[in-house]
Amino acid sequence: MSTCVRCAVDGNKFEAAAIPDVNRPPITVVGSGLAGTLLTCILARAGHRVDLYEKRADPRRADVERGRSINLALSVRGLHALREVGLADDVLKTAIPMQGRVIHALDGRLAFQPYGKDEREVLYSVSRADLNRLLVEAAARLEGVRLFFRHRCVGFDLDTGIAEFSAEGIDAPVEVPTTLLVGADGVFSAIRGQLQKREGFDYSQEYLGHGYKELSIPAGPGGAFRLEKHALHIWPRGDSMMIALPNQDGSFTCTLFWPLDGPNSFAALTDEATIGAYFRRNFADAVPLMPTLARDFRHNPTGPLVTIRCRPWHLNGRAVLLGDACHAVVPFLGQGMNAAFEDCTVLRDCLAQHGPDYGQAFRRYQELRKENLDALADLCVENFIEMRDRVASPWFVLAKRLQVFLHRLLPGWYVPLYVMIEFTRIPYAEARRRARRQNRLILGLLSVFFLIVFVAVLIYRG
Ligand code: FAD
Repeated sequence: MSTCVRCAVDGNKFEAAAIPDVNRPPITVVGSGLAGTLLTCILARAGHRVDLYEKRADPRRADVERGRSINLALSVRGLHALREVGLADDVLKTAIPMQGRVIHALDGRLAFQPYGKDEREVLYSVSRADLNRLLVEAAARLEGVRLFFRHRCVGFDLDTGIAEFSAEGIDAPVEVPTTLLVGADGVFSAIRGQLQKREGFDYSQEYLGHGYKELSIPAGPGGAFRLEKHALHIWPRGDSMMIALPNQDGSFTCTLFWPLDGPNSFAALTDEATIGAYFRRNFADAVPLMPTLARDFRHNPTGPLVTIRCRPWHLNGRAVLLGDACHAVVPFLGQGMNAAFEDCTVLRDCLAQHGPDYGQAFRRYQELRKENLDALADLCVENFIEMRDRVASPWFVLAKRLQVFLHRLLPGWYVPLYVMIEFTRIPYAEARRRARRQNRLILGLLSVFFLIVFVAVLIYRG
């Protein structure tokens, strides 16, 4: 294994104090985002040595990049994985429970829709930066883990296993021989890029036609929350939508989802006056709470919304993909990170089950995950339409109330799809199948009910 002088100079946790299992070759993880760091903790706790490479600076020392989603909704799947490495309680200490959605109508009326049947079925608003820092700190404390920041992966040879990194301050690329490499390098993964060059690798990316921009509602005097604290706020406006999640300091991070082109879009409305007018027309109750709107709009980047699918997720028993690198989804179910965390525990179990036969372990991992992540990708796009269009409709509200009623009445039999996704660990594809079965049964029962009523009326009349 070649080493990098700069890391030692930077004072990263470079020399591992003790190596858990010297007989096992180290696993190389590329990307210390949410999935890569959690996987590092999980693998190190299972007795693997792990070398983690990240192109950015060490988050324990650097500031957060502006405009990357500031907070995230954490739910049962993600919490379960964090619990397995003993980090769930630390994360929950600073998380804000959100019990439901507050819908902001055009005329300023508010309506609360609970997420689940009781106070245990809540989502948690967590800071991306704090969570990432906590995971990096946890990884750095584990024996056998070495962290290499400011190392961008620029190449990977699938035949030899040699990965190339361009490291800040070093002219020539650093060559690192690897035995098992995990590509956890996010939606525009360099490792996936290498796999794509191989024959038989399927890949698709679908842009949504909408982009997103982060805006802010600062805290009121004394750190007061200026909207309901324990809720996710939604301003559904048909073609566009804004949401807001609470932060610990009393502020809310808003995300505007807007068409990229067309009459009311990122492309069409660019100057302060037209943007201001659009916001006053569509988000009238939020505008007085957003004193930095014009500045945020100008400075914060517009992000793309993309679904990525590929197959296989692994090659040669040498490289495997994880998280957004193999299954980026649009964020309308708040599941991208949760699903990526779920990947980590499944991959660990497959490695434990198949020992040194990495090829078999990766095949099993893909078998267990791929169908589910495909289902999630579809559900996320469908939920976008629900969130921006339907949540405000009285029929939608009625249907939701009926679902909550049935769930409370018959919790073992009827579980709404949203509840299965957010508050259980039922595999996504199975949840979708079960929801379809439930809906068919309810429609059947309702049809029979109305038929009986109809026949009874006919008999009574004559
Ligand atoms: P990332 O977190 O993107 O990490 C990838 C890492 O790899 C980064 O640190 C990057 O710097 C590094 N990297 C990239 N290229 C290289 C390279 N060549 N060499 C070395 N390092 C490299 N999910 C939820 O569960 N709940 C939510 O509420 C939610 N909200 C979202 C809101 C928005 C607007 C968006 C865009 C996404 C949201 N997501 C949410 C999805 C979530 O952000 C992702 O699914 C999650 O970050 C995936 O984790 P990851 O580790 O796979 O990728």
